[in-house]
Amino acid sequence: MNVRLLDVRRQNLPLEQELAEAFKRVLHSGRYISGPEVESFEQASAAVAGARFGIGMSSGTDAILVALMALGIGPGDEVICPSFTFFATAGCIARVGARPVFADSCATSFNMRADDIEPLLTPRTRAIIPVHLYGQPADMDPILQIAHRHHLAVIEDAAQAFGAEYRGRPVGSMGDFGTVSFFPTKNLGALGDAGLLVTGDPALAEKARLLRDHGAHPRYFHSMIGGNFRLDALQAALLSVKLPHLSEYTAGRQRNACEYSRVLEGLKSGKVVEILTPAILPDRTHIANQYTLRVRRTEGWQWAETPRDSLRRWLQERGIASEIYYPVPLHQQECFRPFGPYPALPVCEALADEVLSLPVFAEMSSAELNAVSDAVSDFVYSASQLPPGQRRQPTGLA
Ligand SMILES: *Cc1c(COP(=O)(O)O)cnc(C)c1O
Repeated sequence: MNVRLLDVRRQNLPLEQELAEAFKRVLHSGRYISGPEVESFEQASAAVAGARFGIGMSSGTDAILVALMALGIGPGDEVICPSFTFFATAGCIARVGARPVFADSCATSFNMRADDIEPLLTPRTRAIIPVHLYGQPADMDPILQIAHRHHLAVIEDAAQAFGAEYRGRPVGSMGDFGTVSFFPTKNLGALGDAGLLVTGDPALAEKARLLRDHGAHPRYFHSMIGGNFRLDALQAALLSVKLPHLSEYTAGRQRNACEYSRVLEGLKSGKVVEILTPAILPDRTHIANQYTLRVRRTEGWQWAETPRDSLRRWLQERGIASEIYYPVPLHQQECFRPFGPYPALPVCEALADEVLSLPVFAEMSSAELNAVSDAVSDFVYSASQLPPGQRRQPTGLA
């Protein structure tokens, strides 16, 4: 059975009529930039993040960039972020002229740990960007304590975790800024690029709004250098149709993630390969933007290929898509070499070799879900029987 990593059409086509109506409304309004569609979506989406102010953005990346610009971070400054994250987190730090400083990650939650941040602090440190990776909040309280003690700003990169909560607080509401992405594959996906910046601070909100529009106030009078980071009225209108369904989308992903864990947890003790299911920590919600396994070798694994790559190929041969988020940690990326040298980060480096994300989108059928978990189970069984080249085709699969 073919299983895609994600099929955005299955989410969007059931809303075809409402989306078409939203398009028509914008078409007829003649208001394609800013205006009431953007404002009403900003209010509704900021509420999900538990924040007073929401500022629609052209992307999640631009939201991070504008947050850094609004905080006045630039050349000579350092910003601490995880190495095991999507490129944009650190790319934006470098784009404002600051130096990205990379922290190692927690091997069970995949998120940045406060203990790894402390040794990285220098007199030049200005901010910390925790990322709520795969949809599970980072351990914010100790991170916020460090920030408070050292007068550092905190920008939560909530691109993968819109709607998740940490100790009852929505992600995005805990830092000075929270940034959200509505890239089509995120839990709330637009029909193009879109993002959101949230904050509880009226002065920062005002500054971010100006930076979004070339820093002009009033128009053509520029007190700061901003850019064009605006959210389209059309994307705001389309997202307003989808926003009321966010909790259904999340519940669907969580249901699929639970089912995977139920089936795959028993495989943990393979003799040759060990499969670790993602840990869900008790004091937070995991919105399962990704369902990410760790595939680890044990003494019995005698082949050159990593067991993760071997599982990925095994799934592919059975028509099942999977993805590696992320194969190269950021401290090892060529483009950041001028900011280094960076010390080794053993957990991030191990994760880059071990992680594999399975299809978990809300609209998956149970047949698809079973096909994926059966294929993973068969891999573990088969790996303990024969070397990769001579594996038996497991029975029961098409
Ligand atoms: C998707 C993502 C972004 C960037 O969002 P875009 O809307 O694609 O620009 C930033 N950080 C993380 C962790 C992401 O997953």
